[in-house]
Parts: sequence; C-alpha cells; structure tokens
Amino acid sequence: SATPHWLFGDQLGPHFVDPARGGPRRDAPLLMIESRSVFRRRRFHRAKAHLVLSAMRHRAAELGDRVRYVKADTYRQGLREAVGDTPVTVHHPTSRAAEAFVRAHPSVRVLPARGFLVTHDEFRTWADGRGTKHLRQEDFYRWVRRTHDLLMEGDRPVGGRWNLDHDNRQPPPRGANGLGVPPPYRPRESDIDAEVRSDLDRWARDGDVEFVGGDGPRGFPATRREALAALRRFVEHRLATFGAYEDAVLAGDATMSHSLLSSSLNLGLLDPAECVERAEARWRSGDVPLNSAEGFVRQIAGWREFVWHVYWYLGAEYRTSNALGHHEGMPDWFTELSPDATGANCLSHVLGQVRDTGWTHHIPRLMILGSFALQRGWDPRAVTDWFHRSFVDGYDWVMVPNVVGMSQYADGGRMTTKPYTSGGAYIDRMSDFCGPCRYKPSVRVGEDACPFTAGYWNLLHRHRARFEHNARMTQAVRGLDRLRDLDELLEQERDRRD
Ligand code: FAD
Ligand code: SF4
Repeated sequence: SATPHWLFGDQLGPHFVDPARGGPRRDAPLLMIESRSVFRRRRFHRAKAHLVLSAMRHRAAELGDRVRYVKADTYRQGLREAVGDTPVTVHHPTSRAAEAFVRAHPSVRVLPARGFLVTHDEFRTWADGRGTKHLRQEDFYRWVRRTHDLLMEGDRPVGGRWNLDHDNRQPPPRGANGLGVPPPYRPRESDIDAEVRSDLDRWARDGDVEFVGGDGPRGFPATRREALAALRRFVEHRLATFGAYEDAVLAGDATMSHSLLSSSLNLGLLDPAECVERAEARWRSGDVPLNSAEGFVRQIAGWREFVWHVYWYLGAEYRTSNALGHHEGMPDWFTELSPDATGANCLSHVLGQVRDTGWTHHIPRLMILGSFALQRGWDPRAVTDWFHRSFVDGYDWVMVPNVVGMSQYADGGRMTTKPYTSGGAYIDRMSDFCGPCRYKPSVRVGEDACPFTAGYWNLLHRHRARFEHNARMTQAVRGLDRLRDLDELLEQERDRRD
C-alpha cells in the first residue's frame, strides 16, 4: 500500500499532494500534526495562532477520511502516535528546525520543496555562479523572469525595461482619506473558527500559552476556496493601482492597493506560479498597466523567491548575524503592542494596526517599525522574533532574511546595498502621518524633534566608520559634518524613550 504522507501546517494547497509534481500517490493516507508546543515557545499574536489552526483544521475537514489529524504536544509525539515507526514521506519543510527534525528521523523520507518557482539546486547553481558574497535580488529576479518566461518578449522584458520601480514610488494622493479602490476580500468565519476561538481561550485560561493582539473576526483566507477568491478580487479590482502606490501609506487606508496574499501564499493555499500568471494575463489583456503587473510579479517572483533561497543558501548562522553590534533590548510598550505609549504618530498608528490585525504593508514594516528598531540599536534576533510572532504571515524562512538582512542590516550588506532607514522627511513624503503628529519631521533637536530624524543622524554617527566606506552612504555620512547641533542631538538621543 502507499506510503503515508505528512503535511505540515503550511503545506495546505493541492500542489502539496500532487503525484504529477513529485507528491504522494493519490491513494496515500495523509497525516497532519497540530503541535501545541509551537505556540507555547513564544508569545504569538492571537490572529496568527487562529489563522494557522483554522487553516489546518479546514484542510483536514476537506480531506475527510483520507487524513489522520493528530493533536499532540510535539511533532515527535504526534508522529509516534500516528504512524509509529512506519515510513512516511513529507515535502521539504520551511524552517531549519523542522528540516533538522525530519532529516534526523529515520522513518521520514523528505521530498523536494513545493510552493516556490525555483528549486534549491537551481538557486545554488545561479548563486555559486556569481562568484561574490553579495547576492542581489535584482539580478536574481531578471534570471527568474527569463527562465520562467514571465513578462518577456523573446529574450527581452516586455516594454523594454526590467525595472519600473521609478513609476512605483508615488506619494499618496494629498488630502485623500484612502485610495478609493474596492476593499480586499475578507472571509466569513465558519464553525471551525468558533471551535478554534474557544480552544485558544481555554489554552490561555489554563496559562498554557500567552497571546498578544486582537482576536478576529478572521481577516485572512483559511481555505483554498477563500484564497482563490482573494486572488481573484485582487487581480480584478486592485492590481491596476498596485504599482503607483506600492510605497505610499495613508492613515485612513491600511491596505491601500496591496494584495494581502502573503498569508495565503505562506500557508501554501496559493501557488506563486498561479499568482504571477494571473497578473501577467491581466496586463496582456490590457486591463492593468505594466508597472502594476511588473511590480506585483517582482514581489513574488523576485523578492519572495529570493528571500526563501537566501534563508537556505546563507547557512544556519545567518540568523545570528549582528554586523552592527546591536544589543539593546526591545521596550515592553513596543513588544506588547501599546500604541499609546509613543508620541510618534506614524509608529503609534502602525503598532495599533499590528495589534488589531497582525498585518501591515511593506513600507510600515520596513520604514517605520524596522527602521525604528535599527535606529535604536535593538538586538536583531529579538526584532526577528518579535516580527515572527506578531504577523499573520510570519514564518522563520521569510522573517530571518527580511529582518536580519533587509531591515536591520545585521548581515552587513549581503542582501541589500545599504541600510533601509530614513529621517522623518521620507515618512512625511510617503504618508499623511506627520501633519497631526506632535513632532515635526524637519526638526532634529528639542521638544519638536522627530524621533526618526534624530534617530537617523544618531545611527549614522554611531556607524560612521562602516558607512563611509559604502558608496551609497558616503553622501549621507558627509551630511553629519554640516550638523552644528550634533552634540546636542546625541545627548538628547541618549535619554529618549520613544
Ligand atoms: P503585496 O505588497 O501585495 O506583495 C505581493 C506578495 O509579494 C506578498 O504577498 C508576498 O508574498 C510577496 N513579497 C513581497 N515582498 C516580500 C518580501 N520582502 N519577502 C517575502 N515576500 C515578499 N512577508 C511575509 O510573507 N512574511 C513575513 O513574515 C514578512 N516579514 C517582513 C518583515 C519585515 C521587517 C519586512 C520589511 C518585510 C516583511 N515581509 C514579510 C515582506 C512584505 O512586507 C510582506 O510580504 C507584505 O507586506 C505582505 O502584504 P501583501 O500580501 O499585501 O503584499
Ligand atoms: Fe513620524 Fe516624525 Fe512624522 Fe511624527 S513627525 S509622524 S514621528 S515621521
């Protein structure tokens, strides 16, 4: 009879059980393990715990008799209870810890990873061929476009340019409360959600696990059907304006024109190939402009793939990199998601969004939350851990490169050419937060000093020796010499709380 096959909680779509793509036989019994210890180890956002459990239980309900669903304390226990020493197969898991576990288990046979466009071997060949320790997303992305024939005309990019980022950095429309595009798809909860909610309440009451953040209603897809509806809604109604306002932030419009598909992709409910193909088809039929289709394809076929492979390629020690020697602890008000504790309007607003939904779009993550952490010198491992447990789409593979590499520059530039951080002027240009804020983005010293503006100069000063050797930073570092109030600024930053 067919070998049983184990599905991890982020392997929930049809492409994880497809015999035509190296998956288990059609008659193979399936196994799922809900491990309580996953939640016990860290303090998770309630919306995230809910989404993961809801998605697993919905999948088990769909699979019916074919699946054995085990609730256990650990994977080891669950595996023992379900199959004993009988051999099982599993697709390559997404975290180093889970990978080490399955590889060390003699009865588990690991099949190739699913849910990405590029295989591990293909990436290794590409990266080894670069002959440099710095890997660049842009180079990788162009290679993926060519090898997967995405938005190509023969061997040239459609429209003649690979990169349309220049068109995709528009500030938000001034004076507007929102972009005015149809809202993203939101699912309706089922009986399974009610059951998950009552289980989480009980676990918390028993003191078994602790949660932060708001509890529903569930805002993200938990089933393949819901995820497909979300994808359809995005490409049909929201993709057209995705490009231009990709980096813009409005206090009154949390989702702007973003897809909100990250959690569905990361749960394995959607395959990245179908997402980029649909976006390309919308451009080919003349329904969306090229900068929007290209911007979205770049996020998925470029960034998402790149981050996945960087996680495996750069080795286990990558997660502990700390090139800037940052060791400050994170303050409780930040980790507890207490927006009222800070006077910085942008930060307060974004922390509130994370508390209520477990999600914000890329620019608040990178240029507000991450930039604040970098400027304050918080320990990158603690920051990675915080992001991981506070976001509905957070998984080890995606958090480590995004936080250690992209947002905290803790890898010293292996993934990005310069640190992503800014003073208040950038936030002022790209959002409407500064008008009502008690601070002023142009002020760096005194009562009105914007914490981002002062924090930016303080960071440059602290790491001057390193940054002045970076061609993309030399001009910024030279700016320090023109600051007559630098001593005062440094003194002020020593005592600053928020
Ligand atoms: P869209 O803006 O609509 O983009 C489309 C898709 O592209 C996303 O759904 C996502 O799958 C993919 N994508 C875009 N950028 C990235 C990226 N840098 N890395 C991986 N995928 C990307 N993304 C996560 O999926 N999980 C995380 O835990 C996560 N943590 C992040 C932490 C920090 C500090 C930063 C700076 C970024 C992080 N990202 C993470 C990347 C990105 O911010 C989110 O994928 C995106 O905001 C999710 O919203 P969306 O689905 O509407 O994305
Ligand atoms: Fe944020 Fe500074 Fe603008 Fe206030 S002034 S909203 S702290 S960038």
